[in-house]
Amino acid sequence: MASVRPKTVPEPESPYPTFAAGTMKKYYSFLDNVWSKLPAWAGPSVASALVLLMGLTIRAEWLMILVHFLKWTSPGNGTVTSAAAAAAGSITFDEWLNVRFAGFTNVWLIASFVGYAIYFGVGGFLHWYYYRLRRESAHEWKCQPDKWLPPDLEWHEIKIGSISLFIGNTLSAALVIWILNDGYSTVYYNISDYGWTWFLLSWPLIFCYQDYLTYLTHRLYHTPFLYKHFHKLHHTYKQPTAFSVTAIHPFEFVHVQAILVSPMFFMPVHWVTMTVLMLYIYYHGIVDHSGINFKAHWWQPWQPDCLFHDNHHQYFHVNFGFNAFAWDKIHGTYRRKDRIYREDIYYGKGKELEKCTEEELSEEMSERTSENVAAYQSEADKQEMVQTVQKRMKKPAGQ
Ligand SMILES: [Zn+2]
Ligand SMILES: [Zn+2]
Repeated sequence: MASVRPKTVPEPESPYPTFAAGTMKKYYSFLDNVWSKLPAWAGPSVASALVLLMGLTIRAEWLMILVHFLKWTSPGNGTVTSAAAAAAGSITFDEWLNVRFAGFTNVWLIASFVGYAIYFGVGGFLHWYYYRLRRESAHEWKCQPDKWLPPDLEWHEIKIGSISLFIGNTLSAALVIWILNDGYSTVYYNISDYGWTWFLLSWPLIFCYQDYLTYLTHRLYHTPFLYKHFHKLHHTYKQPTAFSVTAIHPFEFVHVQAILVSPMFFMPVHWVTMTVLMLYIYYHGIVDHSGINFKAHWWQPWQPDCLFHDNHHQYFHVNFGFNAFAWDKIHGTYRRKDRIYREDIYYGKGKELEKCTEEELSEEMSERTSENVAAYQSEADKQEMVQTVQKRMKKPAGQ
């Protein structure tokens, strides 16, 4: 059995509290043990499967799938409980709450338990598999191979991420129980209700609605006031990791989540379309923050590689889209090789190289050379990025 043994890499002093450091140590030695029994080729597939599992569970998407499935298979489609019948009569607000949110606590407990277990389990696995086991071969897989998120910020993103996860799971559990108890929604279960044309059309339509609105919202959060008061928190992490995905200001987190689930309340959307699209968004959210050079597959020509959002964290006000680069191309906020982008250059258009000082060019040069060629589509793309700045510099780099 071929296996990769972890190399001994000196670790900086840990900012983690003793209980967290102890648990982490035990978990990593458990992984060391299991991994030594697996063939080496299994690694990447296991990693992808685990990211998918994390996408399914981090915000209780699996519970939503289960509830929709129950409603789809229940006789009469959409009447799992008799709550609707009970709600039909005249009742007080308290009674209405009891009817619509009956069973909330149990669902909330399950959603939270699974959400946290997977967040730490899979997030920890990715950390162990790439950031520890393959730390010395970072040039093969890391978007910013020479730069690492300092351990105190790792701990910071886990704390912020856990708070958002608590809010996210509470809202998801409320939504799940609302749907289960026949609360109002425009989700439908039989394709024949609206026909095949609408069913097929609704996929790209809802995808564009969610992705374009989140692009606009994200861009709005990059304007000076909203950036400084809310979104800057997520940009604490210049080298994002899988734990960064939910490390967002709670206000912004709820705002974005509301946009993502909104189609369920105002347009007919088949339950499979809704759940698959949500899973797609969560899956890519994790992949795009992982810091690992994951590439888009041949069947998703609209999807940017991981580097696109990694660049967003490295250069701040640029590449605002998530699952399609089209919006940035259309609005001119896609990263250009003849512009520099920094935390103090707002609005997504960067600063022209001609207007940059020698010092700014030299700083930009060191940022660009620190990016991994393996995260680009081709070596030529990366070279062009570096050479465009180099040509502008009076003194060639390194002198
Ligand atoms: Zn941002
Ligand atoms: Zn991000």
